[in-house]
Amino acid sequence: MTVKNKVVVITGASSGIGATTAKQLASNGAKVVLGARREERLAALVDEIKAAGGQAAYRVTDVTKSADVQALVKLAQTQFGGLDVIFNNAGIMPTSPISALHTDEWDQMIDINIKGVLNGVAAVMPIFTAQKSGQIITTSSVAGIKSFAGSGVYGATKFAVRNLMEVIRMESAQEGTNIRTVSLYPAAINTELLHTITDKTAKQNMTDFYQQVGISPAAVANVVNFAIDQPEDVNVNEFTIYPTKQA
Ligand code: NDP
Repeated sequence: MTVKNKVVVITGASSGIGATTAKQLASNGAKVVLGARREERLAALVDEIKAAGGQAAYRVTDVTKSADVQALVKLAQTQFGGLDVIFNNAGIMPTSPISALHTDEWDQMIDINIKGVLNGVAAVMPIFTAQKSGQIITTSSVAGIKSFAGSGVYGATKFAVRNLMEVIRMESAQEGTNIRTVSLYPAAINTELLHTITDKTAKQNMTDFYQQVGISPAAVANVVNFAIDQPEDVNVNEFTIYPTKQA
């Protein structure tokens, strides 16, 4: 089992970790199906992948809408004849202290970072159950394994999807399928993620920190590639990805 010829759905594929992973997997022969809200980014990325000899398709997708995610998964089946992997990667990180009560942003994080992942799981589970195999890779965060001041709700969403991945892994083993789950816990990765922060102080602090320590999203793409490359009876299920400069 290798990355080559695997059909991989990627959410949050229009920038950062998702876009970088799409390019890497496609360059290794995977057929990638890309979802996000910004169509011009997706179209340009598909053109770039195809120009480099890869195979890719896209569909404008809002992960908070289950019908959108179902349609994205359907596209993988109609375009490439099946589905091997979903990479639930879409996310936002508008961090702020709880006392600031940015409750609208709490809702958005719950909708995108948790419900978006659940929509991905629900879309693939019938397919993976029927074929008794498939891989669900989800971008949690180091904020999903330890607490950070300012990341109360963001961290809560990332702890939630970590739990979800582990439970699916356990249930898959109990049910005798080869459905595998992978949780990614990246630390500071230089992407567009900080654009989602509206709290001025939080944004400045994070920007300064990322400028000091942040690393390329290729670090995460390499790990996703490695996980997909494993034999079907091997579940490499958790990865932290730290810059060496980050304590
Ligand atoms: P980016 O902001 O570059 O990418 C986020 C992606 O999510 C974009 O493609 C965006 O596309 C997409 N997205 C946001 N909302 C939605 C939505 N409602 N529906 C569909 N797609 C959506 O940041 P990253 O690459 O860093 O983020 C990817 C993941 O990595 C996130 O889950 C983030 O929490 C996680 N992460 C990032 C870390 C970092 O340091 N960068 C560290 C730990 C975790 P569009 O706007 O076009 O919809």
